[in-house]
Amino acid sequence: MTKENLNPFEIAQHQLDEAAEHLQLAPAMHAFLRDPMREFHFSIPVRMDDGSTRIFKGFRVQYNDARGPAKGGIRFHPDETIDTVRALAAWMTWKTAVADIPLGGGKGGVICNPRELSQTELERLARGYMRRIARFIGGTHDVPAPDVYTNPQIMAWMLDEYEAIKGTHEPGVITGKPLPLGGSAGRTAATAMGGIIAIREAAKTLGMDLQGATCAVQGYGNVGSYAVKLASEVLGLKVVAVSDEFGATYSKDGLQYDDLNRHLRRAGQVAGMDGTENITNADLLTLEVDVLIPAAIENQLTGRNASDIKAKIVAELANGPTTPDADDILNANGVFIIPDFLCNAGGVIVSYFEMVQNSYQLYWDEEDVNRQLDRKMSQAFAGVYKMSQAQGVDMRVAAYLVAVQRVAEAVQLRGWVA
Ligand code: NAD
Repeated sequence: MTKENLNPFEIAQHQLDEAAEHLQLAPAMHAFLRDPMREFHFSIPVRMDDGSTRIFKGFRVQYNDARGPAKGGIRFHPDETIDTVRALAAWMTWKTAVADIPLGGGKGGVICNPRELSQTELERLARGYMRRIARFIGGTHDVPAPDVYTNPQIMAWMLDEYEAIKGTHEPGVITGKPLPLGGSAGRTAATAMGGIIAIREAAKTLGMDLQGATCAVQGYGNVGSYAVKLASEVLGLKVVAVSDEFGATYSKDGLQYDDLNRHLRRAGQVAGMDGTENITNADLLTLEVDVLIPAAIENQLTGRNASDIKAKIVAELANGPTTPDADDILNANGVFIIPDFLCNAGGVIVSYFEMVQNSYQLYWDEEDVNRQLDRKMSQAFAGVYKMSQAQGVDMRVAAYLVAVQRVAEAVQLRGWVA
């Protein structure tokens, strides 16, 4: 690999290679796990509001389904590439395995800028995506969900299109649905809640008191905004800095979730709030804080800024925020990293609970969901931490060891690869 390779799929493969070496995986098993089992590339014609037709490019990758149906979100993003989708599908495979839920890994995407589309165009795109993929997905083989720039409304349109094609009610075909269509209580906050539980467990192992400790959160979307809320509500952390794609804001006295939301609604961005200081996104990452939560996009902690990171815990709620070069530097500096596919597993764990509730037609309240989530996340964290201690490896390698071992075992038991 070149020095600072930012191709997410090559990064994902590089991370797997390290795990394969530790586990002494047989060459055929290693080769099998290095690439997706199946992928779909398709064109989606969409009638635009002005009467013209635009062709969008869509993908769905079913990376591995040895442990259960492929599971993973659909992203609508202008910079989407097949390699991003492959990487995210690989990480979903490791995530469902590390969380020990009976699902595999998948991911989907469309190259588009949802901000340039009207609601009706967005609906036609969502339905168009589903028409292309309906025959290849389903509750027993591949279950999509929302991801970057997709949301419960888009899932509702996709579900409706799927059910219209199949002529049956099948809410478990897609998760992250609105509550009235069979969504789960607690799903919207689940990814952040899972990360908060992981931070709590990490602090316990480090003997760190989180009450009043400081925290910075990069990204203020679905995950980042709930991370800000729950970091203070559940852990007693003081969130001193928050950012979005337009910039970052800092207050040494701490930022309040309700104030941030009020300001965001008015200004369309988190920066510029009264009584706070504007800083750059780059400044946010290197602040003197106890906990840093990247909750935006990939490749934010790199070989260039990693040596300036001062946080004791980096909780990766985003997927792929840390490059391998940065990983080496952070580990050498004693930073405790909670790796992405462990830290952000809360979303897929509650998605799995959503599928369970859909199949039983029996719905839990938020308290029940959070209690089950806490149990699953705590067990996943403990398993990875135990592996890291036993093998003398960092948490990311340990998470890979746990996950890859479980997937390889399922592949072997099925007789796919000896
Ligand atoms: P989102 O689209 O709701 O929010 C993304 C946020 O990041 C926005 O506030 C955006 O302004 C900000 N952002 C974009 N570029 C930035 C930059 N360069 N610097 C700072 N901020 C920037 O997305 P989300 O659902 O909150 O997902 C965030 C991350 O978490 C992604 O990596 C996603 O893959 C991961 N994730 C999401 C879920 C989920 O349940 N939504 C689950 C697991 C992982």
